[in-house]
Amino acid sequence: MSDVPSIQLNNGRPIPQLGFGVFLVPPEDTVTAVAEALRAGYRHIDTAEMYGNEKEVGRAIAESGLHRDDVYITSKLNNGHHLPDDARRAFDETLAALGVEAIDLFLIHWPLPTRYGGDFISTWKTLEEFYRDGRARSIGVSNFHAHHLNRLFAETDVMPAVNQIEVHPYLVQDELRAFCAEHQIAVEAWSPLGRGAVLNDPTIQAIASRLEKTTAQVVLRWHIERGDIVFPKSMRPARMAENFDIFDFSLTSDDIAAISALDRGERVGPDPETFDRV
Ligand code: NDP
Repeated sequence: MSDVPSIQLNNGRPIPQLGFGVFLVPPEDTVTAVAEALRAGYRHIDTAEMYGNEKEVGRAIAESGLHRDDVYITSKLNNGHHLPDDARRAFDETLAALGVEAIDLFLIHWPLPTRYGGDFISTWKTLEEFYRDGRARSIGVSNFHAHHLNRLFAETDVMPAVNQIEVHPYLVQDELRAFCAEHQIAVEAWSPLGRGAVLNDPTIQAIASRLEKTTAQVVLRWHIERGDIVFPKSMRPARMAENFDIFDFSLTSDDIAAISALDRGERVGPDPETFDRV
């Protein structure tokens, strides 16, 4: 039905490389937005308890008529629930809100190294329970730096399947991406368009006009060709379709290098080292 490639995670399970993100999609607009994305062909939805719209994501999928297993669903543990009993309760609530018996991918949303006495190990061990009992088909982390991952490697059993981190042309993250690749952890690039900040960049505009594509399509294609998983967010059906239509062209290695050279180490979101909001 679509040409979206899959990436094989380190536990052998496939994940569609392109999905639809619903951060900042208000709950009252989520059923419509997700229904529109599914109509456009997306089969992978990235939500989180923090986004306040898991229930509406679940409703849109249920009402779409698609088979549950044809839509890949990711959600994330909220920052206030890192203690094991809270995490167990929050996970039950996430499954109930989504209306599913098992989720495809469940992540620790932020490492919060300055909270919980710096303990995200017991949180990860709780996610391992969900993985072992089959209610989370894959588990992973988000916003983890290499030193956070090194602690998981040393102190826990299950390797994270993914690390979902901020990546876009102004924050290319090549060091952390290489570290993840070395450990067979797939990278999910959040805010792949830099929330729009990169779309007027002259280098990207020049490539887009040569290829007769939009700058958003060129940037998403750059992520795909670098091997990352992306889920751009848009409230507008025309942009959802535009962002989905990126599999009939390719970039040259010079294009990829020129876009990667735009790196400024510039975040649109918080720094995981200091972020502590619960
Ligand atoms: P994106 O980089 O996806 O950018 C979204 C913004 O770009 C919106 O303002 C949207 O506006 C605009 N936009 C989308 N498509 C186009 C287009 N084709 N042309 C012009 N403008 C466009 O940012 P997000 O922060 O939403 O990131 C995507 C997803 O990543 C989130 O929805 C969430 O799932 C995930 N995420 C995860 C985080 C984490 O900590 N793990 C943190 C942040 C995001 P409009 O809606 O008006 O079209």
